Amino acid sequence: MREILVYRTSNDLAAASGCAIVLDAGLRFQMGMPRESAQPAESGRPSPAKYRTDMSVPTLRLHSGDGMPAIGLGLWKVERENAARTVEDAIRCGYRHFDCACDYANEAEVGAGLKDVLRSGVCRREDLWVTSKLWNTYHAAEHVRPALERSLNDLQLDYLDLYLIHFPLALKYVPFDERYPPGWFYEPQSPRPKIEPAHVPVSETWRAMEELVRAGKVHNIGVSNFNVSLLRDLLSYAEIPPAVLQAELHPFLTQEKLLRFCQENGIVVTAFSPLGAASYFQLGMAGEGESALEQPAVRESALQHGKSPAQIVVRWGVQRGTAVIPKTTRRDRLRENLAIFDFELSAEEMTAINALNRNRRFNDPGEFCEKAFNTFLPIYE
Ligand code: NAP
Repeated sequence: MREILVYRTSNDLAAASGCAIVLDAGLRFQMGMPRESAQPAESGRPSPAKYRTDMSVPTLRLHSGDGMPAIGLGLWKVERENAARTVEDAIRCGYRHFDCACDYANEAEVGAGLKDVLRSGVCRREDLWVTSKLWNTYHAAEHVRPALERSLNDLQLDYLDLYLIHFPLALKYVPFDERYPPGWFYEPQSPRPKIEPAHVPVSETWRAMEELVRAGKVHNIGVSNFNVSLLRDLLSYAEIPPAVLQAELHPFLTQEKLLRFCQENGIVVTAFSPLGAASYFQLGMAGEGESALEQPAVRESALQHGKSPAQIVVRWGVQRGTAVIPKTTRRDRLRENLAIFDFELSAEEMTAINALNRNRRFNDPGEFCEKAFNTFLPIYE
């Protein structure tokens, strides 16, 4: 039941139209916000015109035929008290794609925001793209559907547009009534808590994910933090192939081979932590000199186009054919990160940003699980 992918790469589109954004014209979302975008930006940031988002956001076509908006709002580290307000702000300024997860510990608040804004009639459920992720403790077949039901219940939704296996790491099951979300530690109260791996093959989890599609509970399934070898193995037995890979991608980690493998195998790629180190300074996981936004190649393009460095990096991600899901809770940045469809980076600018690659992975379980969770748990060698 392998389906043909209607995914157009930036190269296809560039050849067709001279423009290098992945566009799926039939499934465009109209994201008008002329009134709000005319408000002055917060914090004395650049002129309002710079942040106008009264334009449609292109979509990436998945093998199911569904169109996933190329820009979404990341919700990791959005505090509970800000989550509902941020979701509402985001929808009102044009976002239709939300990247959630059980592990972000804010799905109930995100759900409250979605409910309020849907009730107000700004958009309909079918205009939204909601992704969530199966946490590591729920990989055993019997836990997959209950985990999804819990996310749906918190998000106050009947279905998800996309459900991803969050990591190729199965951990020992923690019952919902013991702790939710369970996080990484098995027994956080013990004197020296650790992560407890479980032996669940990805194939078992994937079969259960496929059942969710057949039951109509999720429209698309995919994976996150998988490398090429894991994807190749998954493709060998999947009856419903993964629609999306979500992976860390930014100018310091360009992952060209992974991207090319996905494009050649009909898997749409979503770039997480698209701004690079920005997400990791506060966690002590990135250091001085690691900000992609400070790099001359990025800053020069920003000056050239009258855009911010973040807009250049988001645009670079979309222009190379990935969906991009920057996180912010600030209204000015919500607008800023969406307003990238009125300019184009030249081939030379794309090459200069590609050349920033340092294979620098900020979100590496092989590093952070040992430092923060007392357990060596690598995925990548
Ligand atoms: P990110 O979106 O690359 O960066 C977020 C950081 O950049 C925040 O500190 C934010 O601060 C700041 N920022 C946002 N817009 C900015 C702008 N225009 N100018 C300057 N700074 C800006 O990082 P991320 O949150 O790690 O990644 C995005 C999303 O990817 C996550 O939220 C999550 O949904 C997903 N993700 C998935 C995985 C996975 O394992 N699948 C892992 C990591 C992330 P403010 O909030 O203060 O604006």
